Amino acid sequence: MEVVLAKTAGFCFGVSRAVEQVYEQLEKNQGVPIYTFGPIVHNEEVVEDLKSKGVQVINTEEELAAVEEGIVIIRAHGVAKRIYDLLERNGVTVVDATCPFVKKIHKKVQESSRAGREIIIAGNPVHPEVQGIIGWCETPVTVIEQPEDVERYQWDPNKEYCLVAQTTYHYQKFINIIEILKKVLYNIICENTICNATHERQAEAAQIASTVDAMIVIGGRNSSNTQKLYEICRGKCKDTYYIQTVDGLDTGWLTSMKKVGITAGASTPRNIIQEVVTVCQR
Ligand code: SF4
Repeated sequence: MEVVLAKTAGFCFGVSRAVEQVYEQLEKNQGVPIYTFGPIVHNEEVVEDLKSKGVQVINTEEELAAVEEGIVIIRAHGVAKRIYDLLERNGVTVVDATCPFVKKIHKKVQESSRAGREIIIAGNPVHPEVQGIIGWCETPVTVIEQPEDVERYQWDPNKEYCLVAQTTYHYQKFINIIEILKKVLYNIICENTICNATHERQAEAAQIASTVDAMIVIGGRNSSNTQKLYEICRGKCKDTYYIQTVDGLDTGWLTSMKKVGITAGASTPRNIIQEVVTVCQR
């Protein structure tokens, strides 16, 4: 049986880079307390493995303020500037695993607000990434969740604005927001800061699913991006199976199949994907 594994299966570039940095710190700094501010990835197995090796997860700013030694790793979502300031004041070593695509947004909003522009963010206001971006703005910020929300706000056509997007924001909705804003604001810079990782993973999954006899989608039961991947693949290949780990794989599904495709959601670690590939290739 031929097995086609999606190149984009599993962690995106930013998340795998962040997870690697935690393991790297563990190796280099034995005996030093190591913390991550928030879980490094939404995957219990990885977080548990790191915990068993001594990495502690800090969940609130209050808890963070109490840390006075060791290493704090900032995850891919990034954090507000005040968090770096706090850690510096406390003399804690910072390992910054903020995804470079998110870092670019921090720089953009900081520069734009320093130039006097007010910031508009298209995204989910309670998402940690958006909270982090807000924390780099030095002028008033408005977060818009949906294009229809634009009209709820009072915009001042005499002011200058800069619009950015949460990296996982929906592309078409972002375009709609730009169109609506440009009708009321004359001086607005629109920066498309959406990351293509999710889109690329979905496009590749659809392409593979349309050329195989069966498709396997690996990911957590509650992972919304894995569910979405499953729906996309199911639309292209009726023999699509959703499993969490290799234990969920029934090789009976694949007996008469000549070609099987495999993809995985954004929080599925490489080893879990590899185990499924190995079983399929037997
Ligand atoms: Fe991953 Fe893109 Fe987010 Fe970076 S910006 S962490 S590559 S989804």
